[in-house]
Amino acid sequence: MINQEEQISNQRLDIQKEVTMEYIGMDIGGTSLKLGIINEEGTVLSSAAFEVAFDGYETPILNTAVKSLKHFLEEHRRLPGEFAGIGVSATGQVDPSNGVIAGTAGHIKNWQGSRIRDTLFENFKLPVTVMNDANCAALAEKWIGGAKEVSDALVITIGTGVGGGILINSKIFTGLGFAGELGHFSLKGDGKPCTCGNRGCYEQYASTTALVNAVAESVSKGLLSLEDFENRSINGRSIFKLLSCGNPVLLPIYGQWLDDIAQGLVSLTHIFNPQLILLGGGVSKQEKLFIEPLQKKVMERVMPAFRQGLQIKAASLFNDAGIVGAVYYFKNFRDK
Ligand SMILES: [Zn+2]
Repeated sequence: MINQEEQISNQRLDIQKEVTMEYIGMDIGGTSLKLGIINEEGTVLSSAAFEVAFDGYETPILNTAVKSLKHFLEEHRRLPGEFAGIGVSATGQVDPSNGVIAGTAGHIKNWQGSRIRDTLFENFKLPVTVMNDANCAALAEKWIGGAKEVSDALVITIGTGVGGGILINSKIFTGLGFAGELGHFSLKGDGKPCTCGNRGCYEQYASTTALVNAVAESVSKGLLSLEDFENRSINGRSIFKLLSCGNPVLLPIYGQWLDDIAQGLVSLTHIFNPQLILLGGGVSKQEKLFIEPLQKKVMERVMPAFRQGLQIKAASLFNDAGIVGAVYYFKNFRDK
């Protein structure tokens, strides 16, 4: 027999289930904008992508974002009021306490100074949080990805640049707001100039762009032939294709790139002593050619005590990481 009190509380639970909250996730990158509807469990119920660089950023990205979200909601026949809020993941240095873009390492016109939080609030009357995209990727891994079971992890994205997120005690480490720019610590004292104004930054050696540039240099010296690359195009995909055939000129160039990535990971391991390093970006899908040799190189070089319990793996979330992590940040770290 269920007593009356239990019946009432069961009814309450049913009502709660019916009004389960949904969130809007927005991921603003330098080339595209992604929007999604995300539920309490981190499941992406629906998503869409929009161009942001169609006129060389003459139209500010933030204007495109507002217009695209209006369009997205109309398409889905949804009203802003049906959502608990908007979690934004954004490229560049984000000031999370004011929801403003405080700086950019690259050069995106009309982006620095964008008042994301206030502008979205004015247009949609919803609470908004804004966090850096690499940090959002780390939070997404914490919520529903590979870092779910750990409290201390580094999530590093290797792409056109290098992005990072530092999880300490299950929280993203932000310092005064901008911490975790793992692409911009100096790997080589007097190395290559970087877009951030410094020299020798990790990103200049560890990004996919750095690998492509090194390979292109060998092609221009006549050491490699452009004909060997798929569609005569040097990119991550064509490089890995040639590598899997064991090209003898390409192997040492690739080995140097892996050494540089490993060197940075060894230093980061000694600073943070993480349980887990998750590597994201297109290259991380290459288990045999990328993840495994990198694991070996790092494990050989870290001090024994740091090796204990350290795991290095590929990140498990790809395109949705930004919108999912942005919503996780909104749910858990919004000023209440
Ligand atoms: Zn830099």
